[in-house]
Amino acid sequence: MSSSGAYRVALIGWPVEHSLSPVMHNAAFKALGIDWRYELFPVPPGQLGAAVADLHAGDCRGANVTLPHKSAIMAYLDKIDDAARAIGAVNTIAVRGTRLAGYNTDGPGFLRALREAGLEPAGRRALVLGAGGAARAVVYALAQAGCSVTVFNRTVAHAAELARNLNGLGLGGAVSTVPGEAALRALDLAPFDLLVNATVVGMWPNCGESPWPVGLALPSHWSVFDLVYNPLETRLLGEARQAGARAIDGLGMLVWQGALAFELWTGQAPPVGLMRAAAVEALAIER
Ligand code: NAP
Repeated sequence: MSSSGAYRVALIGWPVEHSLSPVMHNAAFKALGIDWRYELFPVPPGQLGAAVADLHAGDCRGANVTLPHKSAIMAYLDKIDDAARAIGAVNTIAVRGTRLAGYNTDGPGFLRALREAGLEPAGRRALVLGAGGAARAVVYALAQAGCSVTVFNRTVAHAAELARNLNGLGLGGAVSTVPGEAALRALDLAPFDLLVNATVVGMWPNCGESPWPVGLALPSHWSVFDLVYNPLETRLLGEARQAGARAIDGLGMLVWQGALAFELWTGQAPPVGLMRAAAVEALAIER
């Protein structure tokens, strides 16, 4: 138990200083009268052992895990839920007695945000840009919800590996890939209705960049969901609006992946609106 008597939840990553998670979770703990605190726990690459020992310290109720440890942490956990294992990444740990249980709330958080925006994934066709950790979570969630997904990534081999792994699981929707930018330009875009940016392109400080190929028209019937949340208004979303398409920013997913983690740690319903307001305020201050 810590000197203040409160329990802790830690953010394990490197670096962690710019995370919005502390403001969201500490606001939620306070609002619900829970005497816990959410703390940054910077862990350099290769030093996860010390972080895991800290999780067993007795006053720790859980953790979020971010880059570069989302995959490496899995070797230290007693239990990993099916989705996190399939995605190959854990972003949330719950301490259950002496056991550490791993989850991934990015995929479910994305689906909550998508549905909150009025879009049901079942029966849709999505084009997902990216094949990193967030893309794997999003593609898994979409395919499991019955959406067929096509993945385009800068490194074609990463997209192919993602599709191979997820198609082997027999999820509701099939996962295919686009083998390079020339093939993307030649693709018939009309049958798709959802574009998701799960790359880092457009993130601060490279706000002037867009992951969508220059000169390729965005269809007006699309919904465009950008996972990037700093800034909220990305170049891609501006291009989408200009094309007459629907633009959805990364805030909803950020809030929901945190809210679902909060529920796993505390067993209580998360104050989602309050967590959203705390994140918006922190984003405004950061700029
Ligand atoms: P990651 O694992 O490092 O993956 C990065 C992805 O971006 C890879 O597909 C990579 O392609 C691609 N990429 C990097 N530089 C590129 C470039 N110059 N041109 C084209 N593609 C490039 O990162 P991640 O964890 O998946 O995060 C991806 C994004 O999602 C970040 O912006 C992150 O903030 C956001 N995110 C948002 C939420 C939310 O709650 N809203 C949650 C999680 C993540 P290669 O395979 O070719 O390297």
